Amino acid sequence: MTEQTTTGALATATDGVLTWRCTVCGSTIDAGAGGFILKHGDVERARAAARARHIEDARIDALPPAERIEARIYTPGAAVNAVRSRMYYRAPWKLLHFGCASDDDVIYDVEVQRARTAAELLDWTAHFDEKGWLSLTSWAETVLRHAHRALGTDA
Ligand SMILES: [Zn+2]
Repeated sequence: MTEQTTTGALATATDGVLTWRCTVCGSTIDAGAGGFILKHGDVERARAAARARHIEDARIDALPPAERIEARIYTPGAAVNAVRSRMYYRAPWKLLHFGCASDDDVIYDVEVQRARTAAELLDWTAHFDEKGWLSLTSWAETVLRHAHRALGTDA
């Protein structure tokens, strides 16, 4: 049996099976009691950020080559950096008990008992690939980190 626990981690793994913990109250999430929640408003915010990024990239691509390089590497100040940083916003998947947060505005939820192994996380990834919003969310980093934890290959 292998067991990994990291302070502050969202999950522990035992024999390849993840046990998830609520980011609101910190307690273990039992089957049927919670999961990953994606909010519609967060996806729309990420979609607007992607549009802004696309417009900014097109503006830079239209510049003469010398200015293009400068536009990409020059950082004129914190305000501009904050704007650019917002362009890379991704909608978070919030891990919590269904009772620990409001359930309004939810576009999708994945209950913990259906996301306990690396294979299940991959199945969800394949399923979400058919949705238009996958790349607008933090799902990839969530899956990568925790699939490795389940497999015992995380650092
Ligand atoms: Zn909770």
